[in-house]
Amino acid sequence: MKHVDLLTIGAGGGGYPAAFRIARAGEKVVMIDSKGVMSGNCLEQGCVPSKAVREAVEVYKLVQKREYFGLKGDNIGFDYSKIIDFKDNVQKFRYAQHAKELEEVSQNLKLIKGSASFVDEHIVKVTNEDSETLYNADNIIIASGAAPYILPVEGAEHCITSTELYILNTKIKTLSKSIVILGAGYIGVETATFFNELGVNVTIIQRSKRILTAIDERFASLIQNSLDSKIKLELGTEIKKIEKIGVNGGYNYNVSYTKDGVLKTINADLVLMGYGRKPVIPEGTDKIGIDFDAKGRIKINGAIQTNIPHIYASGDVNGLSMLFHSAERQSLVCANNIFADNTPVDYMDFNAVPTTVFTFPKAAYAGILPEQAKKMGIDILQCSYDFVADAKAQIYNELDGEIREFFDAKTLKIIGAWVIGIDAELLIGELVTAIQNSLDVRIIASLPNQHPTSSEGIAKAARKLL
Ligand code: ADP
Repeated sequence: MKHVDLLTIGAGGGGYPAAFRIARAGEKVVMIDSKGVMSGNCLEQGCVPSKAVREAVEVYKLVQKREYFGLKGDNIGFDYSKIIDFKDNVQKFRYAQHAKELEEVSQNLKLIKGSASFVDEHIVKVTNEDSETLYNADNIIIASGAAPYILPVEGAEHCITSTELYILNTKIKTLSKSIVILGAGYIGVETATFFNELGVNVTIIQRSKRILTAIDERFASLIQNSLDSKIKLELGTEIKKIEKIGVNGGYNYNVSYTKDGVLKTINADLVLMGYGRKPVIPEGTDKIGIDFDAKGRIKINGAIQTNIPHIYASGDVNGLSMLFHSAERQSLVCANNIFADNTPVDYMDFNAVPTTVFTFPKAAYAGILPEQAKKMGIDILQCSYDFVADAKAQIYNELDGEIREFFDAKTLKIIGAWVIGIDAELLIGELVTAIQNSLDVRIIASLPNQHPTSSEGIAKAARKLL
């Protein structure tokens, strides 16, 4: 049995920041990951590769506007297999970087390839192809992440998930002519917009009457209205089955669903389950007395601790905020609390985590938005700035969208914000700093945001309240 100060189950965003921090302080740390590499699902099949594909599409879109910019050039097209090669190269580059980072701390930190399961509160068994090893760990971080949710429907096995689309060295290197996307969560809607821009015939089939049900209703409807009208939205439906159909030596799929009581069938070359992700719980977690909530998620406190103080559950696995940067911050909260012998000294502020939906156009938000504020009984004051009046948006001719800020009406401190349109994913960074620090509307109104950048709107919106 090997003894370590910290063991992480998973070497993704919820695991490795704490592992590095604690190893750098001289403690003995192991990260167990069945992939045998660092950075989890985000780099292998999630945020990084999907955004690499998105950025290639963004460039392609810009190229279509070349005449607007006064540029010349004909026959500028794309080769989807080359876009995939580009995506793979970005992933490989980052894997090489992580390998170097691991080397730098190799005295105290080891990454072990294998599958981890709990034997008891301190002992974790690691199984790989040819061996089993037991580790006795003073502290444990469960950071086993999440996997795509598979709807239990007839023919589900014919669907792909975002994993097959974006995974390193994916076999899907040609673009289908048509795709049906089941579910209008952020994964489904993002992918719908990428494929639509590349000329694929896209249909989204969604059970609810609106898209992005996890997001503030008014903001989600702004996003829904901003989507290209070529994307077909079938809302308020129930999926019945997916069938594989042989055609001319190949095959495609029939997706059957009901809408307003009527059975409909749509045919497509590819069907994507885009329902989002569900936590992956390591074997044995339920046997060692760890508490789960009513939704079957590991229960944690604000210090990311489970009910067993030396065992933490950080990142996607706790299901509270399934984003890499949230996992990263949660992991550091764990590290700080481990340094304090598991007496909490650091806490996660989930309100200070920005979220971006990387659709065309991008949409980002953070903090408390109106729907939630109403539930919490907070009166809000709001102000907005339309990009139509923005110098940078005018230069790019991307005039749609807005920045909107929400203040507690009693204190005039900012509690939330959203941005849809140009640079949304960057602007939310400044706004989240304001939210995290509860900045007063007068401070935000006095920010000398740079001209001509899209951030000017942050201060200009606030000035409308003064
Ligand atoms: P997060 O961002 O929350 O850290 P990720 O999904 O990116 O989550 O990473 C989780 C990692 O945990 C994945 O690389 C996965 O292979 C690994 N993993 C999940 N369960 C186990 C397990 N039981 N043993 C070892 N590794 C695991």
